[in-house]
Amino acid sequence: MNLTCQNSFAVRKEGEPGSLYLVATPIGNLEDMTYRAVRMLQECDIIAAEDTRQTRKLLTHFEIQPKQLFSYHEHNKGASGPEIIRYIIEGKNVAIVSDAGLPAISDPGSDLVRLAIAEGISVIPIPGANAALSGLIASGLSTERFTFVGFLPRDKKDIIAQLSSFQAAQGTLLFYESPHRVKKTLEIMQEALGDRQIALARELTKRYEEFVRGSIPQCLDWLEEHPPLGEYVIVVEGASKEEELREQNSWWQELTLEEHVKHYEDSGISRKDAMKKTASDRGVSKRDIYNSLLDK
Ligand code: SAM
Repeated sequence: MNLTCQNSFAVRKEGEPGSLYLVATPIGNLEDMTYRAVRMLQECDIIAAEDTRQTRKLLTHFEIQPKQLFSYHEHNKGASGPEIIRYIIEGKNVAIVSDAGLPAISDPGSDLVRLAIAEGISVIPIPGANAALSGLIASGLSTERFTFVGFLPRDKKDIIAQLSSFQAAQGTLLFYESPHRVKKTLEIMQEALGDRQIALARELTKRYEEFVRGSIPQCLDWLEEHPPLGEYVIVVEGASKEEELREQNSWWQELTLEEHVKHYEDSGISRKDAMKKTASDRGVSKRDIYNSLLDK
């Protein structure tokens, strides 16, 4: 990406392109709509909505009469995205809204953002509700460092591969999940990440909002008694310091002995010292390394 600088509040001159506004909408509780979001949706020339039916309900509630409502979702983004960009270049201000929460988080809004930036268009956030961060802040798990993972892949093999890549990550992990997959996902998490503390945040901001906090097996037992309903954020404790250190100290595990020694030699030290370091990493004697390399 080339270096670009955007002054979001610069006054636009006649004939210049419009802007793309990313407007947050409530994730269940209409009181979470911000004053600024209402004003933006009232003032913009086009509202690009992931689900126009859902957005119409929201607009009706806030008595907003859209100038133009445009559909932009996963299945039409290839055609719809460039068309929206064309409107902006012609001078229209476009507000994008997703089904709920922040646009561009686990929805195609992020593709539109990239297209806009590539065209030098200002992309302006209008912040508000977000499910992952709402779940995190009330989870009781560390908020110091965290990774948003969003939806996991469908296949168990792919889920395990993805979770394994976070096995040693120390920050809290944030996932989105549907009610009919939440149990299966927790079982796979237990298998891939081991026993961790988690929080299941359900129906955030809505009447039946619920937080279930405990270990993965405890939460699975809970779900046996209370069948999953509504939308979920799964917040998972990060790896312990020991797990992270173990991972850092075994970076060489995929290497052959020769590759391991060569790695150190490439850093500029002698073969003898490289063998000494390799022996120390592997917890064996320098003689063992020497003999094994001779045998090859
Ligand atoms: N853009 C949204 C945001 O900012 O949070 C996320 C959209 S993503 C397509 C939808 C997923 O977010 C749901 O499957 C669920 O995992 C999570 N989610 C959305 N609303 C939620 C709520 N009220 N309570 C719990 N999870 C929610």
